[in-house]
Amino acid sequence: MARIRRCPICKNPLPEGEGAARYRPFCSKRCAEIDLGKWLTGSYAIPATEEESEDEEEGGTPKPAADTPLSH
Ligand SMILES: [Zn+2]
Repeated sequence: MARIRRCPICKNPLPEGEGAARYRPFCSKRCAEIDLGKWLTGSYAIPATEEESEDEEEGGTPKPAADTPLSH
């Protein structure tokens, strides 16, 4: 039961041979450059989306104290 390593970019089995081994763990120079491009653009490790509505206040707008009875 041979375990086939696959290229993480194109999912193809890695080719055997010394010429292809230099691009491990990728199958070719092209896939290695694609992976490098992902790192450079920041879309590989850094999450692109962030939650923005985190500091939404409860209670909302502060209203003037008009409904408090003045007469005592
Ligand atoms: Zn590949």
